[in-house]
Amino acid sequence: MFRDTLKKMDTELKDVVKYTLDINGVKHNMNNYIGKQIKIEWSGDVICNCGKTMNKFYRSGFCYKCYWESPKASQSIFKPELCTAHLGIEERDLEWEKKFQLAPHFVYLANSSGIKVGITRGSQGVIRWMDQGASQAILLAEVPNRRFSGDIEVSLKRFVADVTNWRKMLSGNPQLVDLVKMKEELAVHVPAELKQYILTNNTVTEIRYPVTQYPKKIKSVKLEKTPIIAGELLGIKGQYLLLDGDRVFNIRSHEGFVSTFSHQEISQQGLLF
Ligand SMILES: [Zn+2]
Repeated sequence: MFRDTLKKMDTELKDVVKYTLDINGVKHNMNNYIGKQIKIEWSGDVICNCGKTMNKFYRSGFCYKCYWESPKASQSIFKPELCTAHLGIEERDLEWEKKFQLAPHFVYLANSSGIKVGITRGSQGVIRWMDQGASQAILLAEVPNRRFSGDIEVSLKRFVADVTNWRKMLSGNPQLVDLVKMKEELAVHVPAELKQYILTNNTVTEIRYPVTQYPKKIKSVKLEKTPIIAGELLGIKGQYLLLDGDRVFNIRSHEGFVSTFSHQEISQQGLLF
């Protein structure tokens, strides 16, 4: 059912991040297409997580029913500090919320467009950083549930951002920062009852992206406005494809769009496009 919809690219931490796009039954090694022509063509349909097909999403990638009823679209998904499963209090579906919230979570600092604080589930730290286009990251704390990570995040938001400035992230490499020192300074502001969860391991992960050319004046393109997006792939950072003409395409914000993907050598482009 979801074989033909766009999904965020899989990432692997290598010398430079390796990106794989899984669509139409094919796994594309996207790094190989840099310097070549790619084309994404939207059919006009989107499919919600629940399987409902529509011509557009209601909000945030959900149909109307899921947006208002699914635990995947509840308030605490967007604001982890509102999680209550650890108290046995249901928001929309306690069984689902227990599974999702009552698992180890990490609080991290990442540098993608300046320093930000974020949270992530157990094994996903590195994946999350690559998805955000971070160039450096460090784990700050490991907590037993999502709520505690939200509480730490809230306490640090007074000092650092909690969102990535994607325009800045796509405009080049950020200035490197001493994340160990940053962590030590911020750790002081973690609430006393949560200080026990601060990690002593200060490993800094550095991440490089396959980008040959950054856009100068960023133009974000969207399938709703332009159902066929084609051009030379100049690089990939975070979940963005950097295309010629200073265009950037956020694959993640098009998850669920029924589309086809194709690629071609530039010298042969007349044959395909
Ligand atoms: Zn739905």
